[in-house]
Amino acid sequence: MVYLKTEADSLLDLDYSELEKELTKRGVKAVHTRTLWRAMHRESFQGVLPGNTRHDFLPPLGNWLQQAEIKPRLGPLLEVDQEIHSSDQLTRKWLFRLADGETIETVLMDYPGRYTACVSTQAGCAMGCVFCATGQAGFVRHLSVGEIVSQLLHVQFVLRSEGKSGLRNIVLMGMGEPLHNYDAVMKAMGIVSDTRGMNIGPARISISTVGVVPGILRMAEERRPYNLAVSLHGANEADRSRLIPVSKRWPLDELIKACRIYGEKTKRRIFFGWTLIAGENDSSAQAHELATLLEGLDAHVNLIPLNKTAGYEGSESATPEVDSFKAILQTRGFPCTIRQRRGIDVAAGCGQLKASL
Ligand code: SAH
Ligand code: SF4
Repeated sequence: MVYLKTEADSLLDLDYSELEKELTKRGVKAVHTRTLWRAMHRESFQGVLPGNTRHDFLPPLGNWLQQAEIKPRLGPLLEVDQEIHSSDQLTRKWLFRLADGETIETVLMDYPGRYTACVSTQAGCAMGCVFCATGQAGFVRHLSVGEIVSQLLHVQFVLRSEGKSGLRNIVLMGMGEPLHNYDAVMKAMGIVSDTRGMNIGPARISISTVGVVPGILRMAEERRPYNLAVSLHGANEADRSRLIPVSKRWPLDELIKACRIYGEKTKRRIFFGWTLIAGENDSSAQAHELATLLEGLDAHVNLIPLNKTAGYEGSESATPEVDSFKAILQTRGFPCTIRQRRGIDVAAGCGQLKASL
């Protein structure tokens, strides 16, 4: 691990100004922050990457750190346990082992001309959505800032070492509920969008939530510049709480109210996720109900045909239902996209991540 002798666990937990503060506090010139930051976040310095064997920063960085009496025990926050490619080679998944032995997964999708990384924010998830493998497995712990950032550093490093152009988009749709780990997630996204480092534009970052109302309101209040995706799956309380137990905690009417406040404050479009399950939430009546619920919102609906998980009986909606659900929403004025299914053969699809061996 990259330990600093500070309250932070890892150099990768620090944002730019914190790193600068730590260095200057110890007598290192503030201008050196930039070089160190660059080495870590732009050049994916090997010392912070999985599989790394080097345990020293090269001079002069090493000297500065020494001068600052920072004795970084270098080494990655994540170790690659497995790298699995889908048969079409367009999706791959890494199973990472964390320092305490817990495991998480990160998925990289190759869309023509742009790579999208699907990142985990927690080991497990406390929300218990019935159709999601992560939810079925339960909550283990929050990921630290450094553990979130490291997933992306690894992806960047791998792409670069294969001579491929870098990562374009980040979706926080891996394991876990991002807004349940709000502070670490926001700080990590600040770090990866920092123009002096990884420089992923905030508009290319999407945060998906099951509907944690206080988190949505906080994002609005703080004017967070990221895309917000809200997973709905049901357009009335009875339908929704059958699939999403936490709908009892943050009921649908409160959730929609929070989305309206978010929309008004930020003037941003909200992306609503809807996992289509045959006979459960794919009827024409339910499509109309959804359109009525969203009336007046600047909303885009993403339809995701259900991916199979061990703990849930339901099956994906058939193509005619999917198409008709989409057509109804479009007729009612909402842009609507059917999510391409990716990486199903290696359990890298939405809701299939559980990091089991
Ligand atoms: N916790 C967040 C983000 C991670 S889940 C959230 O729930 O939004 C990312 C997306 O995958 C969510 O929209 C979720 O509803 C969807 N999903 C979960 N399980 C799925 C499954 N088995 N098939 C298809 N989509 C699923
Ligand atoms: Fe958690 Fe999202 Fe899975 Fe629900 S769908 S259990 S919120 S990861």
